[in-house]
Amino acid sequence: MDDNKIKNFAELIRSSNRIVFFGGAGVSTESGMKDYRSEDGLYNTVTKYQVPPETILSHSFFERHPDVFYDFYYNYFLNTTAAPNRTHYALTALEKAGKLKAIITQNIDGLHQKAGSQHVIELHGTVLKHYCTACKTIMPNEQVKALAGGIPFCEKCHHIVRPDVVLYEESLNPSTVEAAVDAISSADLLIIGGTSLAVYPAANFILYFKGKHIVLINRDATQYDDRASVVFRESIGQVFEDTMHVLGLPFENVNNKKGRA
Ligand SMILES: [Zn+2]
Repeated sequence: MDDNKIKNFAELIRSSNRIVFFGGAGVSTESGMKDYRSEDGLYNTVTKYQVPPETILSHSFFERHPDVFYDFYYNYFLNTTAAPNRTHYALTALEKAGKLKAIITQNIDGLHQKAGSQHVIELHGTVLKHYCTACKTIMPNEQVKALAGGIPFCEKCHHIVRPDVVLYEESLNPSTVEAAVDAISSADLLIIGGTSLAVYPAANFILYFKGKHIVLINRDATQYDDRASVVFRESIGQVFEDTMHVLGLPFENVNNKKGRA
């Protein structure tokens, strides 16, 4: 790890008070969640369904094959023991310190909330909520989980229950988009982590940032590297751990792949 870059990052955090974090799948891989495209990702490892994960997680597939959808969804999203990692906890500490104003995430795992973060904008929804497609009645998470991949049906009207997740072919919730744009356009420091910004609409949000400094933490190069004041290619967990150490900010340092039960 480059000490100077860590010091630069820490200094940017020190001099900022309206930080926004924009994150993607790379934030949760240290918690054991699979991302989509990497070697160990869903795309390359989940082959038993004979259709790619993106197809299973699409609106039309959900309607045509809810049984396959729920089997996949249960195994890879709902029934995980994933727990927050040091990145999630560092962000929670930054929020508590009054530095961080919002987390905008493309993840649906709910791990930022589990780590105690308050202002989390979930662009793609959350696996922590399920509701009836007809009457919108919410089905408690534990009830959906208890079906172990079976299709949940509404107790009131017997229509199918769906996760509060934005599926492929569906558009983002307008109020969520508005909240994200508001947060980014009033931010004084934008930290982008664990996302290649390659997928629409992630990249578009960044255009609303009017502040001076962007810090980018991602394994691979992104189209915004030139725009960033500091670019890290290292593990996002390690970057945050080292930076929090320089800042002298205490945080719950959980450094293991499986997280805690
Ligand atoms: Zn219903």
